[in-house]
Amino acid sequence: MTENQHTQQDPTQQYPQPEYPEQDQRHQHPGFEGEMQPEPDYGYDTYRGYGRLEGKKAIITGGDSGIGRAVALAFAREGADVLISYLSEEEPDALETARVVEEAGKRAIKAPGDISEESQCQAVVQRAVDEFGQIDVLVNNAAHQMTVSGIADVDSELLDRTFKTNIYAMFWLVKEALPHMPEGGSIINVASIQAYQPSPTLLPYSSTKGAIVTFTKGLAQEVVQYGLRANTVAPGPVWTPIIPASMPGDTVSQFGGTSPMGRPAQPAELAPAFVFLASQESSFVNGETLGVTGGQPLP
Ligand code: NAD
Repeated sequence: MTENQHTQQDPTQQYPQPEYPEQDQRHQHPGFEGEMQPEPDYGYDTYRGYGRLEGKKAIITGGDSGIGRAVALAFAREGADVLISYLSEEEPDALETARVVEEAGKRAIKAPGDISEESQCQAVVQRAVDEFGQIDVLVNNAAHQMTVSGIADVDSELLDRTFKTNIYAMFWLVKEALPHMPEGGSIINVASIQAYQPSPTLLPYSSTKGAIVTFTKGLAQEVVQYGLRANTVAPGPVWTPIIPASMPGDTVSQFGGTSPMGRPAQPAELAPAFVFLASQESSFVNGETLGVTGGQPLP
């Protein structure tokens, strides 16, 4: 435990605030955590587990970095084995996530590959079943995001990549995983404040995030008959590689500065919401959208 997270303090002052150094990783999309300044805080020094996910088996897409890495660490420290899915070029980030999961005494399975292909979604689930025998928690967290100047800048290739990664993959992964999810299981889909307050420069991305909220509300009503729940986490601005990998350097240096907190969240601040939704502590929460926005209202 460090004084950063468990002491009572003003949350606006708790983590680094803009302005950050100008940085642009768009040439190496989807970006590397180790190259960010400052490096995101994923809870390594602060997250303390209490056995809330003891013996559970989890899939986390996009688990190599950012929010997914913080969730992987928290789940492992709560007692879960974890499979992370990610793009193969992100191997350096994935190795670090696997290292901290194993350091917590849990199994880390790496499943690189592009989930915008249905066959890869099937392979991810099959790998989890082969390794773990079942899937208790499915976290659909991976996403493609790229800024555009406006709708004239949106081509079919970008639409295909964004919609297939962000929402098609959720259909494919859930469909494949459901037969392997025992009662008490939990599906957690990651949307965004962008579902409610869309930026024109992120129109393809924000459209998928709106779809994810609707998908989850409907899915929750179906899966409850199998003893499962499905919920959404909607983050506000979070300091992760997707930001320098999709935005110009001068935007990155101010990122989160206009939020009510005057700063973006760190991934470590997101993970507890996922632990809550994954565990039985949220047994009566189903079809809900949990905002972690720092005060930007979700309608
Ligand atoms: P991140 O870059 O750390 O994570 C995104 C991950 O998605 C990457 O690690 C990448 O491996 C994975 N990915 C992308 N395309 C993929 C594909 N085709 N196949 C397999 N994996 C793929 O960024 P993050 O901010 O931690 O993003 C996690 C989630 O949080 C996303 O759903 C994102 O939309 C959401 N979110 C982020 C913010 C923010 O400000 N960072 C705000 C709201 C919502």
